[in-house]
This record gives sequence, C-alpha cells and structure tokens, in this order.
Amino acid sequence: MGENEGSTKLYVVLPCYNEEAILEISAKKALALYDRLIKDGLVSDESRLLFVDDGSKDRTWEIIEDLHKRHKCICGIKLSRNRGHQIAIFAGMTYGAEQGADCVITIDADLQQDINAIPKFLEKYREGCDIVYGVRNSRDTDSFFKKTTATLYYKFMRSLGCELIEQSADYRLLSRKAVEALDSYKESNLFIRGLVPELGFKTGIVYFDVSNREAGESKYTLKKMATLALNGITSFSIRPIRIVTLMGFVVFLISLVMMIQTVIDHINGAAVRGYPTLMISIWFLGGVQLLSLGIIGEYVGRTYMESKNRPRYFIDKETGDE
Ligand code: UDP
Ligand code: MG
Repeated sequence: MGENEGSTKLYVVLPCYNEEAILEISAKKALALYDRLIKDGLVSDESRLLFVDDGSKDRTWEIIEDLHKRHKCICGIKLSRNRGHQIAIFAGMTYGAEQGADCVITIDADLQQDINAIPKFLEKYREGCDIVYGVRNSRDTDSFFKKTTATLYYKFMRSLGCELIEQSADYRLLSRKAVEALDSYKESNLFIRGLVPELGFKTGIVYFDVSNREAGESKYTLKKMATLALNGITSFSIRPIRIVTLMGFVVFLISLVMMIQTVIDHINGAAVRGYPTLMISIWFLGGVQLLSLGIIGEYVGRTYMESKNRPRYFIDKETGDE
C-alpha cells in the first residue's frame, strides 16, 4: 500500500449508458483531475480513466474511442448489450484489476458526484484502507420522490438485516484485493452496495458533494430503480419468506376462532348468519395466498436464474481494437 506513493496505479471506472450529451464535459473534468493527480504524484502515469459503455444506443462508444485517440490516459470497454449500472461498474472494476490496477474508483459518468474528492479516497487508500465509501453530504439535489423512497428503502433493508452504508452511492474505492474478493461472489444478481460491506477488510469513509446533472437525462428509469431495489432485498434476505410463514400461522389461528364460532352458531340454530364473514374470508385469504405465492415466486425465480450460472456480461470491444 503506502510503500511507494507515486506508483499507485488507479483506474477510475465511469459507467455510461446513452451519455453522448455529457461525455465530453465529464471527460474534460476527469482529465483535469487526472493531470492534478499526476502532478501531485498521487498516482502513476499508468493510471487510466476507464469508460464502460453499457450497451448504449447512441454515439457514446464513438465518443469514447475518439477520446482514447486524443488522450493516452482514457480507455474504454463496450459491453455487448445493456446490462445495467451494477454490472457495468462491476465489469469496469474487474477489467481494471486485470490490467493490474492497484485500486479502482467507480463514479457515475455524469459526475454528479464530486470527482474532486478522489484525492481524499487515495489518502484513505494510502492509510491502508481496502474499501473507501463515498458518502454524500446531503441529498439536496435529488427530487423529493427519490429522497423519500431512498430513505425508506435503506430503513427497510436495515430492518431485513442487510447492513447498507447510509447515503452511500456507488462512488467508492476498492483495492485490487477487494475487487478480487468481490469477483469471487458468483451470483448473477449483483447488488454491489450490499456485497461490499460483506467483504470485510479495512474500510474508510470520504464525504463528497452532489450536484445536478449538467446535460442529458437520468438513465435510471423507475423500472431500473425498482429492479435494483428488489434485487437488493431478495439477494440479501429471506426474511420476506419468513413473514409469509408467519402470516400463514396467524391466519391459521384466526381460522380456529372462526371454526369455534361456526360451531356455536350451528348449535344456536343461526347458521346462515355468516354471509359477510364468508365473503370477507374468501377475499382476504385469497389475497394473502396470492401475495405469499408472489413473494415465494420471486425467490424461486431467482434461484432458477442463479442455478443457470449464466455469464454476467460480455466485453464486445476495447478501445484500441481495430
Ligand atoms: N447507467 C448505466 N447503465 C444503465 C443505467 C445507467 O451504466 O442501464 C449509468 C449512467 O450512464 C450513469 C450512472 O449509471 O453514469 C448513473 O445513472 P444516472 O445518472 O442516470 O442516475 P441518477 O444519477 O439519476 O440516479
Ligand atoms: Mg446521475
């Protein structure tokens, strides 16, 4: 780690999905920071800014190739199709580790996260941290909807027993050792935010500011956010299934009471009185059953997908390929 400071080989991983509008702006900022890091002797000149094209449909890849031609320190890989943010950063991190990077830092390509916090990450790394989390100072720039859903989600995950670092986005540093450890998790449903705390190792925290997106639109659609949230829950906790079991037990207890009541009604000769009870029971039980089946189905489905052991991504192209 700290033995020879200037020799730290850093890969900054920037996932891009249809980011043609902002790539040049981001690259300019990243290059300025790169020069500063080199000048201050914080990283070696073998360090790279690695753009991961997550199967974009616009000119993203052409721009990355063009940037690569103009700047030696920029390189890129192109995934064979859109695999989502989590897989894209994972692909970038493992690629960086394979290229011999001592550490990798992941940051969104729109640079909403303050890229100038990178020296602070490196400082923690030199202090011997294998994992450094970026934690945002505030969520002021997020919409009310995103803020509340995120806070609720973190609370919910915590109640399910998954220790997430609060307010930590996917802006973090991992040493090569940590990337290799992460790579040994073979699940195809990657929820990196939950996996990284599982790794252990010495960790540190860096605070950073968030700004508004300068160009282009958010690529995290509601659907993508929902999938991420669901993946997080199902890959870290089977407590929802336990809740189903508990629900079944409670309903069973209620049915015992109903049974006794029915018998008493029968003895008293008032057996037809139960129409509302009957209707409510049918709908209530039907609802509970469908919901339970759905929850269990989520897990069975995921078990099925995981059991196939499918590859997580393919690299279609690298910059410099002809
Ligand atoms: N992204 C990606 N694949 C996707 C969706 C998003 O690689 O399928 C990237 C995107 O290019 C950006 C980062 O993930 O660099 C964060 O996305 P975005 O800024 O759109 O999300 P937001 O900041 O609105 O949460
Ligand atoms: Mg963004």
